[in-house]
Amino acid sequence: MKVLKFGGTSVGSAERMKDVAKLIVGERNIVVLSAMSGTTNSLVEISEYLYKKNPDGASEIINKLAIKYYEIVNQFFSTSEYKQRAKELVAHHFDYIRTFTKDLFTLFEERVVLAQGELISTGLMHLYLNELGVNAVLLPALDYMRTDKNAEPDPAYIKEKLNILLDEYKDAELYITQGYICRNAYGEIDNLQRGGSDYTASLIGAAIHAEEIQIWTDIDGMHNNDPRYVEETAPVRHLHFEEAAELAYFGAKILHPTCILPAKLNNIPVRLLNTMQPDALGTLVSNKIEKGKIKAVAAKDNITAIKIKSGRMLLATGFLRKVFEIFENYQTPIDMVTTSEVGVSCTIDNRKRLDEIVDDLKKFGTVTVDNDMVIICVVGDMDWENLGFGASIVNALKDIPVRMISYGGSNYNVSLLVKSSDKQKALRALSAYLFNKK
Ligand code: ASP
Ligand code: MG
Repeated sequence: MKVLKFGGTSVGSAERMKDVAKLIVGERNIVVLSAMSGTTNSLVEISEYLYKKNPDGASEIINKLAIKYYEIVNQFFSTSEYKQRAKELVAHHFDYIRTFTKDLFTLFEERVVLAQGELISTGLMHLYLNELGVNAVLLPALDYMRTDKNAEPDPAYIKEKLNILLDEYKDAELYITQGYICRNAYGEIDNLQRGGSDYTASLIGAAIHAEEIQIWTDIDGMHNNDPRYVEETAPVRHLHFEEAAELAYFGAKILHPTCILPAKLNNIPVRLLNTMQPDALGTLVSNKIEKGKIKAVAAKDNITAIKIKSGRMLLATGFLRKVFEIFENYQTPIDMVTTSEVGVSCTIDNRKRLDEIVDDLKKFGTVTVDNDMVIICVVGDMDWENLGFGASIVNALKDIPVRMISYGGSNYNVSLLVKSSDKQKALRALSAYLFNKK
């Protein structure tokens, strides 16, 4: 059995939902759906109004959203019987959301409101498949998806409950379920954080030892560079989970970072596919490494580099700990680090506490700050014993000033820090040199 997850834009309209239905019918798989695109954002907005005790503001958005759903129902269903049933479903959820405009609104109520998007999208898809005569069964995520007291998913619970449900509905032609939503350790409705539907798919995949997890979006897999800056990019056909994890930090948003771990640990391949082009090969993420191959380049903006130079660092023990502790005290994560015998440079992407950090660091040496920097990361099989890749990367950037280079932190990544103004040039040079050498 496979797990197929469709994101918000893939179920963004009646037309798109029909396309999804065509893709999922015919195989007994578990299909995870996000809320229709824009819905979760609207539900967040509704919640904001309710927190601010502005029920009229909330009602305005609720009504707009409800109208949108009634239009979708009209376009989606063809028989009056199913149109009626779908309208009742939509009305039920919106009546429920409206009950929250009348009373106290807390985090608890917010989570219930946020859960309605996935409940509606899966409810509608379920009805549509039934209208087509497909025996699709709706698996309620709130009956099996659960987090523990640390707000981490509880794999043993998920596995047990999900398998009981699957056993109960053995004759189903396929299963539909909600992404993102769950219950917490206290049985309350909760969620797996924004974008969490990928995580749902990955947790289900692990729970049933799926043959494959498919993440369907509206792009053709992952590209080897950022198409907004580089003209000749190409889809990456194979990625190692570690490579995907490195890229996830750099905002290669196709696969949510949390989704990687359960799939990797259970050795379940994840395939990134495109609903607009269902036959395209997409990208396969697995535990297989392609020896010696550089896969992709990505960039992260708004980076600040901080250098601490001190004669006292020479042969001193505990110097780095003291430096890092300052960042920790101000709850500012460090991304990249390079060191010499008398100095250390680190980068941060959160400048909120920069002034305090710099002030404290001055105790240990001379501090310099470089703003408006970009981390460029090159990902692939970069085991240090492979020859040549370091030279290629540095060579590609021979005309660009490089502020830091971090290499050897993992077998899958080389990171370089350049000025924002050199970002496009650097990305293009790396693509030309590493992927498109003529
Ligand atoms: N609907 C949720 C969100 O927009 C979950 C998801 O799409 O993955 O964050
Ligand atoms: Mg999404």
